[in-house]
Amino acid sequence: MRNMPTVVDTPPRSCGECSACCTVLGVRDLEPPKPDYVACSDCRPGGGCSRYTTRPPTCEGYQCLWLTGALGDDESTRPDRLGLVFDVYDTPADGGEPGIYARAVWPDAPREHEELLFTLAAKLLIVVIYDAKRRGLIGPEHRLAAFRRLLAART
Ligand code: SF4
Ligand code: SF4
Repeated sequence: MRNMPTVVDTPPRSCGECSACCTVLGVRDLEPPKPDYVACSDCRPGGGCSRYTTRPPTCEGYQCLWLTGALGDDESTRPDRLGLVFDVYDTPADGGEPGIYARAVWPDAPREHEELLFTLAAKLLIVVIYDAKRRGLIGPEHRLAAFRRLLAART
């Protein structure tokens, strides 16, 4: 059995003023493509998309784990308040069970939520993304060992 949070089909909540993913996530099907950690020029101040009805499929299909309700119903964990956007990492390079991306909305957010991240990492592989260039991996020791072996095989 997988240790992933339950993801429901219909978002039980709306993004409200949050637009964290419009900055932290790259959108390849925008013209021109938007890289990770660059604010989208279509993002309205205070949240919302100025081209909502014609937004690209990537945007239309994206739901962070807060939006799905998988993180519980605590409003304070909305990404723009928590500082972390969680979503599913479904193709880990070690071929193991899916994990989670934790994308920092501001640079210190992973440090501010170290306890939460390490609690999750006791069971799940977590890719912590600090910015466009820096990322780290935490998780159960057997998963980290598998990644170390992969890295060693590539060098
Ligand atoms: S990060 Fe989540 S809650 Fe915030 S705008 Fe994106 S999908 Fe909505
Ligand atoms: S097109 Fe709209 S939904 Fe997509 S990243 Fe830009 S502001 Fe966000």
